[in-house]
Amino acid sequence: MKRIAFIGSGPSSLMGAFLLSKKGFSCTIFERETEIGKRLKISGNGRCNLFHHPLDFKYYKNQEFAKKYMEEFLLHEQEIFNELGLLTFDDEEGRTYPLSKEGKQVISLFMNALKRNGVKIIYKEVKNIINLRDGVKIYTENEEYVFDECVFAIGGFSYRYPYEEKLSLCQKMNLSLTPLSPSLTPIKTSSYHNKNLEGRRYQVLLSLTKDHKQLFTEKGEILFKKDGISGIVTFNLSCVLARLHLADYKGYQIHIDFLPNISHDELKKIIYHPSFPLEENLERLLGKELQEEWMYWMKNKKKDLFSLIKDYTLDVISLYPLKDSQVTSGGINLSSLNKDGSLIHMNHVFPCGEILDIDGASGGYNIAFAFGSAYFVCQSIICRLKK
Ligand SMILES: Cc1cc2nc3c(=O)[nH]c(=O)nc-3n(C[C@H](O)[C@H](O)[C@H](O)COP(=O)(O)OP(=O)(O)OC[C@H]3O[C@@H](n4cnc5c(N)ncnc54)[C@H](O)[C@@H]3O)c2cc1C
Repeated sequence: MKRIAFIGSGPSSLMGAFLLSKKGFSCTIFERETEIGKRLKISGNGRCNLFHHPLDFKYYKNQEFAKKYMEEFLLHEQEIFNELGLLTFDDEEGRTYPLSKEGKQVISLFMNALKRNGVKIIYKEVKNIINLRDGVKIYTENEEYVFDECVFAIGGFSYRYPYEEKLSLCQKMNLSLTPLSPSLTPIKTSSYHNKNLEGRRYQVLLSLTKDHKQLFTEKGEILFKKDGISGIVTFNLSCVLARLHLADYKGYQIHIDFLPNISHDELKKIIYHPSFPLEENLERLLGKELQEEWMYWMKNKKKDLFSLIKDYTLDVISLYPLKDSQVTSGGINLSSLNKDGSLIHMNHVFPCGEILDIDGASGGYNIAFAFGSAYFVCQSIICRLKK
């Protein structure tokens, strides 16, 4: 029986081990933590936003690659979820969640299926992998293991993960990595005046410009943080900045339209309503905190009130660091891969999931890619081992 190793137990490996074990391959997962799928469990605030319908490839970095990796999975997605017993629902924005709204239930389903199919789990950190003529040798602290093929799915460099260890493994394996930047992360900006805005959430139209050229615009909720902004639409904006891999964001500006559904003329009528003083009219719009903020800039800095409401501008200082981000933009260089997804210099190693230089927007795109890329590399492994 052909032996396949999976490095990591994120959604990529869980899906891959499920697909190959049901085809009769002997599968072993290596996991450095003491439990599997830790990140899947906390994803989507514990609710696990595991897919997006429809899945639009424009939300991925390296769209063509993402499409190539995921197309086949999309055709079989429902059938695979059914086989796993995974019931899902889509919210009004197309975000797919398990019906139970619990990531831990998704992990249980995988665990049950893997157990039934005889998948072995070794809770050890992989320290090195070397390519052999007919397979791979995997090293943990005290042991060596030989497998026919290896799915390499150690995830990105974000969140509270030991960055140094991951990087060291990649270096030992001579992997070519593109620059790594935090994505889906809060953004540090120039400061706002009214400290009471911290913790406040607003439904806005958020845009990003550089030298008056618009690079991003999307409606959604922002959250004011002590030193910048957060929230889903901010995360999506951070994707655009992350993919530029810049050391300095000078000239990049964030524009907030606090009332995207109210036209200039309607706004004028509200602001200058003759029955109330200006302060009260402004407070009626979005509350005291913003009213104070607008009044400050208007009175002390002579800013135009309409611009403050419809085009409130903050300078981008930086992205929050990798440890605070949900996803890493950057990873294994796609040009270091063979057509079947294996590494050119280690042809029995198939990287997939977030360790690849492909990242998606928020809304289920990243777990979807982990599933889809696992399907792609597993099909390649099946084809190769059949020959
Ligand atoms: C807070 C948070 C919320 C998120 N929410 C969502 C969401 O709702 N929807 C979405 O699509 N995406 C979300 N993401 C992103 C998503 O979780 C990841 O993109 C996805 O889990 C990547 O899957 P993966 O299989 O490639 O790697 P991971 O899930 O990161 O799994 C990699 C595994 O490999 C293990 N590992 C690493 N190195 C070694 C080693 N040397 N030896 C053995 N094991 C090793 C790790 O311990 C880990 O368990 C979120 C991320 C975070 C941090």
